[in-house]
Amino acid sequence: MKPEIRRLRALIVEDSSDDAELIRLELRRNGFELETRRVEDRAGTQEALANCGWDIVLTDHAMPTFSAKGVIEVLSACDADIPCIVVSGAIGEEAAVDLLKSGAFDYVNKSRLNLLAPTVNRALREAEERRARRAAEEALRESEARFRLIAENARDLIAMTNMAGRYVYVSPSHATVLGYSEQALLATGPLELIHPEDRERFRQWRAMDHYELRMRDAGGEWRWVEGSTSLVMWQGEPHMVSISRDISSQKEMTERLKQLAYYDPLSGLPNRTLLRDRLRQALAHARRVGRSVGVMFVDFDNFKVLNDSLGHEFGDDVLQAGAHLILESVRDEDTVARLGGDEFVVVLPAIDAPEDAAKVAEKILARISQPFEVNGQGVALSASVGIALSNGTHFEIDDLLKHADLAMYLAKESGKGQYRFFTPAMDVEAVERLNLERDMRGALDKGEFVLHYQPQLDLDDLQVSGMEALVRWQHPKRGLIMPEVFIPLAEETGLIRALGELVLNEACRQTVTWQKSGIPIRRIAVNLSAKQLQVPTFVETVEAALDRSGLEPSCLELEITESATADTQEETIHMLRALKRLGVHLAIDDFGKGYSSLSYLKRLPMDALKVDRNFVSGLEGGGGGNEDAAILRAVVELGKNLQLRVVGEGIESEDQLDFLTGSGFDEGQGFLFSRPLPAREAGRLLRREPVWRAG
Ligand code: C2E
Ligand code: CA
Ligand code: CA
Repeated sequence: MKPEIRRLRALIVEDSSDDAELIRLELRRNGFELETRRVEDRAGTQEALANCGWDIVLTDHAMPTFSAKGVIEVLSACDADIPCIVVSGAIGEEAAVDLLKSGAFDYVNKSRLNLLAPTVNRALREAEERRARRAAEEALRESEARFRLIAENARDLIAMTNMAGRYVYVSPSHATVLGYSEQALLATGPLELIHPEDRERFRQWRAMDHYELRMRDAGGEWRWVEGSTSLVMWQGEPHMVSISRDISSQKEMTERLKQLAYYDPLSGLPNRTLLRDRLRQALAHARRVGRSVGVMFVDFDNFKVLNDSLGHEFGDDVLQAGAHLILESVRDEDTVARLGGDEFVVVLPAIDAPEDAAKVAEKILARISQPFEVNGQGVALSASVGIALSNGTHFEIDDLLKHADLAMYLAKESGKGQYRFFTPAMDVEAVERLNLERDMRGALDKGEFVLHYQPQLDLDDLQVSGMEALVRWQHPKRGLIMPEVFIPLAEETGLIRALGELVLNEACRQTVTWQKSGIPIRRIAVNLSAKQLQVPTFVETVEAALDRSGLEPSCLELEITESATADTQEETIHMLRALKRLGVHLAIDDFGKGYSSLSYLKRLPMDALKVDRNFVSGLEGGGGGNEDAAILRAVVELGKNLQLRVVGEGIESEDQLDFLTGSGFDEGQGFLFSRPLPAREAGRLLRREPVWRAG
């Protein structure tokens, strides 16, 4: 077998150049590619060793000025791990052993030089092994140092726990994060520091990808810590390594965000989002167990007034107190949420009968109506409550909320401080109203509102004395809608202002058009809503309508319902007086319906009094002996006393007409003469005067 060629850098310490050559020959023969240098004294050896990276040193045992022993000394002094083989003549067992002891690798007899190459090989191999081992040790030391450095400087909490639940290692970060010294910790285990509620999971001896738990720090505070554990073998025993970090501030932040996302900042109660969440859960649960969920809308009745008069800060305090009162009235498992403003929702997660919800509503209403103090000021609240219940088929969150809201709204409308249950009939009304309201906004611009005119006749000669303008809504889909349907809605939504102005302008314009075309019309009556009188600039609106149309002010009569003047304040009286000064006439409409005090009536600058048509329709046959007849007679008397023109409305029969004429009514109006007519027909009617002739 051809020996493989290996490079060998050999330092030969030998006084005989022949012997050195023999060594070289022998090694070359064995496949070494040599690079050698021969030295023969200490200085040469030192100098040679200082410079080159030798693989091996081959030395004679004894030379004239140097020795193998000296070579070994030099070698160990220069701390180079270079094997040294003594190549010499016979030296005796004792000397050989001595050499080996002092550090020579081996001894080869010059007479058996064939042993040199195997010995060199062995020496090289062992040196290589030593080097590798050293490198490995070095690497290990380095990595240990590295890991220690990491562990010691990590902000994470690194710990190792034995099976007995004791710490066997804790990183110094424990001191900075939790405030415990290493010694203190090593005397305990993690379980002693973990919050009792979080202990269970940690007690299980297993690897965990992620855990979050609370640990008590040295100051006794609970800190949130998140981490993972893994199981390792160490010193033949399983240990648990945990790496964790303090997430208290993140937790706090998350909590705060959660609070913001799910709670109303003012009251601290759940907000709409959380309410829906709770309601969803309650509904799912109720469905499973066959019970009902009650949803209650609670809305303070007088809150807006209180807020406006006493200020928003005070209002906020009242809301907080009110929220507290509601909370006090319900059980722990019930949810009380605030939707904003003074609107609260209570969810009763499991009820069996409507009475259960009714009881809670009564309790809330009773609790709220007890006067309480806010900032030293006495407050009396009342609330309206609407209740909707889920049932076997009806579990929609939005419907429940909407229905409870609707029931609350109707409770409020029917008088305050009450509760009402939702009924399916309410929904129809509400949808209807909502649709109408939406349509109405567009209707104004589209000119869908038209005026019809109903004549008023002088009862003396049955001549037309004037016309009453009555508004209708020509709805593209629903056809003609009567004012009783949309006027209340317009009043609620504020659209009445625009609508009223439109009616006023159109009535004036039409009247002037008639007058200019030679149609004799002395008076146009226009109905006003109470809401219009509350607009401070209303007088200007009337003035503008007169100016624009050119209508004589005395031709315009404004009809104001009795109820609009009944709860009037001074402002309304001023307003009426200002209107009067414009020269327009004023009439009290629907008189008798509102039972206004007569002394009050005297203060109003009125021209006419229109008796509510229900008194007229209440007249029996031609008799006039009933109660309504008595009232009508009294009203006429009153009107005359106040020097008012007395007008009877809703005259449908000749008997009624006769009665009114006989009772002294000045004017009359009703289907008997004419229904309200569109402008064109009304114009025709005016031309053919007199319209109606008895007999
Ligand atoms: P109102 O001012 O008392 O108007 C008279 C109402 O009685 C009219 O109803 C008229 O059509 C009706 N009527 C007239 N004669 C008879 C009769 O012989 N029998 C019966 N059963 N009814 C008769 P309409 O037009 O439906 O108006 C209803 C109410 O709507 C009015 O009552 C008035 O309060 C209000 N209204 C009508 N137009 C306007 C308006 O332009 N502005 C305001 N704010 N309210 C208006
Ligand atoms: Ca009227
Ligand atoms: Ca009327």
